[in-house]
Amino acid sequence: MASVTHRKIRRIEDDGTRVYWDYHRYTPLPDEDRTYAKRKPADPRALRFGSTWYLPLEVLPDKERVMPETFGDDQTVDHPALCKCAPCLRPEAQRQWRRARGLRP
Ligand SMILES: [Zn+2]
Repeated sequence: MASVTHRKIRRIEDDGTRVYWDYHRYTPLPDEDRTYAKRKPADPRALRFGSTWYLPLEVLPDKERVMPETFGDDQTVDHPALCKCAPCLRPEAQRQWRRARGLRP
């Protein structure tokens, strides 16, 4: 019967048998004989939240990230009518454009 213990392990023998601080011996079962499968991933960075293991996301380093250029909605007030630029296509920018000209929203 497998158990989880905080007792110190004195040594691990060649066949995997653990000898604990009080000379208690325990040989872990091979994976194919275990009743419950090991769910912890081999990656040491894995994190458990609730009953689920999560691996860190593979993302670009911060220096290689490129953020999209952003504009405030009020910047479009000076644009000509029916301008097709990205901020002008936003509904709130179109509302501000119409409000600045006294048109109905
Ligand atoms: Zn525009």
